[in-house]
Amino acid sequence: MSRLEPPKTLADWQALADRLIPYLETRAFIDDAFVDALSGETFTTTNPATGEPLAEVASCDAADAELAVGHARAAFDAGEWSRLAPGRRKKVLLRLADLMEAHRHELALLDTLDMGKPVASSLGDMAGAIACFRYQAECIDKLYGEVAPTGEEALALVLREPLGVVASIVPWNFPLMMTAWKVAPALAAGNSVILKPSEKSPLSALRLAALAHEAGIPRGVFQVLPGFGHTVGKALALSMGVDCLAFTGSTQVGKQLMQYAGQSNLKRVYLECGGKSPNIVFADCKDLARVAKHAASAIFHNQGEVCIAGSRLLVENAIREAFIDQVLVAAKRMQPGDPLDPDSFMGAIVDEAQYRRILSYIEKGREEGARLRVGGEATQVDGKGLFIPPTVFDGVTPEMAIGREEIFGPVLSVFGFDSEEEAVAMANDSVYGLAAGLWSQDIDRIMRVTRRLHSGQVFVNNWAGGDQTMPFGGVKQSGNGRDKSHHSLEEYSELKSVWIWISLSS
Ligand code: NAD
Repeated sequence: MSRLEPPKTLADWQALADRLIPYLETRAFIDDAFVDALSGETFTTTNPATGEPLAEVASCDAADAELAVGHARAAFDAGEWSRLAPGRRKKVLLRLADLMEAHRHELALLDTLDMGKPVASSLGDMAGAIACFRYQAECIDKLYGEVAPTGEEALALVLREPLGVVASIVPWNFPLMMTAWKVAPALAAGNSVILKPSEKSPLSALRLAALAHEAGIPRGVFQVLPGFGHTVGKALALSMGVDCLAFTGSTQVGKQLMQYAGQSNLKRVYLECGGKSPNIVFADCKDLARVAKHAASAIFHNQGEVCIAGSRLLVENAIREAFIDQVLVAAKRMQPGDPLDPDSFMGAIVDEAQYRRILSYIEKGREEGARLRVGGEATQVDGKGLFIPPTVFDGVTPEMAIGREEIFGPVLSVFGFDSEEEAVAMANDSVYGLAAGLWSQDIDRIMRVTRRLHSGQVFVNNWAGGDQTMPFGGVKQSGNGRDKSHHSLEEYSELKSVWIWISLSS
């Protein structure tokens, strides 16, 4: 592979990794410069596919947060970005998207090395992240304010203005794509943004900072603070200088963030949290083998480390046995492989803690009496790494932990049902409401069930369909925010009402 050719084979990706790793940027990005954490502390980020350390990364804490918030506020008040005409912000963000595209292989590789997902999947994430920047950039100079319908004595304007300082705290499962879903609309709307990537996947965020600088995002407008949740994350959430927290992560941490907002300045808190999504298969669906393949990939894609994973498979009892057989056939074809192999469908589990957590749920499933149909044992690739193959439990009941709790790993829980009523009740019997799927050929049933599902998103005869035009988010304890689409711009802007009195007498 020459330097300019995109990597195609495992050897190409390995060669690119060997070239990149010695030169990784691992310092925080504050006020337009890469700097060590004020404490000088670092943490190690490790490649879960090999167990080898990748880099020592700056471990920011409250002092760095305070510093970054000060710079973000100063940048906001200076107005170089916040008051820039939307069309000019658009140009800078489109330039950033172009730079991301030019560097997509490198960005994809960083996510793969950091958190273990297959490189083909990371490349898909990059396409999503780039599309998000382009979409939000294109939206921002097409959103109009309003003139309210009042009488002639006033001109009443409803203006949209940026919020100020947005702190974005993101998870590790789609590191750069989740970042893009928050950062692109927040920047497009004119805010100053401080990004805290997950301590398990900080590298692509730091690379993004360098590209944002190159694209021309002004000083202090985009900063990146790597570090832990309980240190720098908590400090941002409690900061009196942060106007909005845009969070993607677990429900447990989401609840804490709401408390921090209440304890500090009532900052806006947008949450995209966990899920335990039901995927309902009715006996009248077409082509069982195809549906089974989708049902398997709905849970095993990205090692099951997906907020909208179809982790609860609800199958009408009339077809249950035949359908599960097909799911098992599909699952057996989705074995984990080297994340740098472009043909791998599944990669490594992000870290030892998550790996142990998934295995403990598998153990619980066995103990609670669910029937293990495939998988269930950890494995390795080339004698290394944290890998868990597709695991399917049948005969799961709603009381079982594997039937209720978010595992965030490649574990599918299969339930049986006899009626539409029962399927809807089972699907809604969850604290979560992020996504739901249903498979049927009956349009009346599809509309009836769709309306009754307590879920932010419903996929009909597909799983995880959507594009930049569609909002992404949940209800109940899956959160209150919406990423993507022009609706996400609403979250990062404030309405200002302006009443201009007009004297009617001359
Ligand atoms: P997590 O909640 O442990 O961490 C998310 C982020 O919050 C990390 O950056 C972490 O450092 C930070 N954090 C942790 N404790 C904090 C604290 N006290 N104060 C401030 N910040 C803190 O989640 P995770 O393990 O990184 O990600 C997995 C979770 O994310 C799953 O529950 C998954 O469903 C959810 N998720 C949701 C969506 C969605 O769109 N709804 C998308 C992806 C992931």
